Amino acid sequence: MTKAQDIIRPDVLAMTSYPVPDSTGLIKLDAMENPYTLPADLAQHLGEHLAGVALNRYPAPRPAELLAKIKRTMNVPAACDVLFGNGSDELISMMSMACSRPGAKVVAPVPGFVMYEMSARFAHLEFVGVPLKADFTLDADELIVAIDEHTPALVYLAYPNNPTGTLYDDADMERVIAAAKQSLVVIDEAYQPFAENSWMPRAADFDNIVVMRTVSKRGLAGIRLGYMAGRPGWILQFDKVRPPYNINVLTQATADFLLNHLDVLDAQAADLRAQRAALASEVAALPGMTVFPSAGNFLLVRVPDAAVAFETLLTSRVLIKNVSKMHPLLANCVRLTIGTSEENAHMVAALKKLAPN
Ligand SMILES: *Cc1c(COP(=O)(O)O)cnc(C)c1O
Repeated sequence: MTKAQDIIRPDVLAMTSYPVPDSTGLIKLDAMENPYTLPADLAQHLGEHLAGVALNRYPAPRPAELLAKIKRTMNVPAACDVLFGNGSDELISMMSMACSRPGAKVVAPVPGFVMYEMSARFAHLEFVGVPLKADFTLDADELIVAIDEHTPALVYLAYPNNPTGTLYDDADMERVIAAAKQSLVVIDEAYQPFAENSWMPRAADFDNIVVMRTVSKRGLAGIRLGYMAGRPGWILQFDKVRPPYNINVLTQATADFLLNHLDVLDAQAADLRAQRAALASEVAALPGMTVFPSAGNFLLVRVPDAAVAFETLLTSRVLIKNVSKMHPLLANCVRLTIGTSEENAHMVAALKKLAPN
């Protein structure tokens, strides 16, 4: 009898699946979801729109109208093409697969988004992490040393970075892009609605960058849609490894509909940016807590003891993310997603229980 152990790759056998904790009954502030749903009347209209979708047909593999609409509404430069992914996670996986030549490498700052490394490993690419500075700004000099040494296929720069929230300095980014002449630099703007800064207008200005985004953090994590903009020469190649019908008809129809109502999502993002400022000053005022500047819909906070903080908040029914074991630079750090003002108030009340009295 065949056993999985005889067939599955040893590195896969040794792994555990991506952990998603059970959040039943909890205030879920661990995964950078937008706490707001759609207004009831808009949801009603969306439902009517979705009722007309032909579920019996395969989705369009390269939906021209939706791609054009994204280009228009997201200010994608005319010289760029766009590629959709089932979440930007799938785009990362497609890039890894397409670049997986023997000996190919990926360089990215660490701590950073875990899927860069995971995807690289799955595709047999070597991952080289370059530590950020202790204040989580980019160590451009060290990154450039690593790029020179390893000549990676891909360099990831999350703008802003997860889990630190750091918006890297543009001049540092320019130096890295200039140094990475033999690489593709992927600028990951998953948190763009909260950053308000973007490289998208410059996506066609360099022949070695693509700009990647997702609708997940701005309120549509459930539909799984990411997109990537870049010069046609890149998009053409990555499109070849795209699973044939990767964006389902309901996701396409939902995106098509909601791109006509971006004002609703933009207002939610503006509200969350204001909540972020309020939460940052409240948490920073608590003894023993350091809040790092964040351009995302989350805050990275150093607490006296991350494990105690996680458990104390859980006791108050608040689920956060303990990132303290992800990287030595994150010692005793937790990541708090920005919720509604009520949720945030609940979280602050729970954090106050941690303060020495
Ligand atoms: C959440 C996140 C993503 C993945 O987004 P999906 O579109 O939901 O797959 C990509 N990059 C960064 C930095 C993220 O934080």
